[in-house]
Amino acid sequence: MIADEERFGTDPAATFRVNLSAVEERIVRACQRSGRNRSDVRLLPITKTVPADILRYAFAAGIHDFGENKIQEAQSKKAELGEMDINWSIVGHLQSNKVKYLCHFAREFHALDSLRLADLLDKRLKREGRQLDVYVQVNTSGEESKFGLHPDALMPFIETLDQFEALRPRGLMTLALFSQDMDKVRPCFRLLRRLRDQAVLRNAAVTELSMGMSGDFEEAIEAGANVVRVGQAIFGKRPTPDSLYWPGFAPEAGQS
Ligand SMILES: *Cc1c(COP(=O)(O)O)cnc(C)c1O
Repeated sequence: MIADEERFGTDPAATFRVNLSAVEERIVRACQRSGRNRSDVRLLPITKTVPADILRYAFAAGIHDFGENKIQEAQSKKAELGEMDINWSIVGHLQSNKVKYLCHFAREFHALDSLRLADLLDKRLKREGRQLDVYVQVNTSGEESKFGLHPDALMPFIETLDQFEALRPRGLMTLALFSQDMDKVRPCFRLLRRLRDQAVLRNAAVTELSMGMSGDFEEAIEAGANVVRVGQAIFGKRPTPDSLYWPGFAPEAGQS
């Protein structure tokens, strides 16, 4: 397909390997700048809009963690790639009617943002005899359109997590302000870190920071990120508008 070739090249596995090593180099340098160990930062490749057949090349290039924003898309890829041992992460907002699908196959969920959702997930997971790693999403940018708990609501929420036996709390997640001005982005990351420092006192398992994407993962690492969610820097520019994933998305002037 022409469209795929434009985006992924004639040899997608080679393209992904080159892109991965460039991202890896940037991760290593950001770790060095901030005195951190590379092993403290996990790269979670985000595969939304990458077709299932192309994901075989990503797997061949060494990518075994696939992060998806939308459950239907993840589900259909999972069905096509069923024979491959993939660690599926769902990183986007989840509607309650999709809980059952997620609980069937996902190993991680990065957008836990309500007690109701925690309860639905827990009940369904118990029926499936499964457990799920969860990150609590926090709205650190103050934008009304963003999902995630208000920072003031986080500590009471963290204190309820113990009652959900099938949920394994891992940490906090955020989407920073969408801006190319890193002076506006960094405060979001720093806020999440401060919140994590408080949250871990209430639940010792809440240690990780899932923050940073293609445009800002180096700043996120410098601010303490343990998981960076990187899509386009590995898989090329998405053909879909970001408003599809982040309702109300309004890029600042100058951002495409
Ligand atoms: C798409 C997505 C990312 C990755 O964004 P890129 O710009 O492709 O790096 C990270 N987090 C979430 C929640 C996403 O939906």
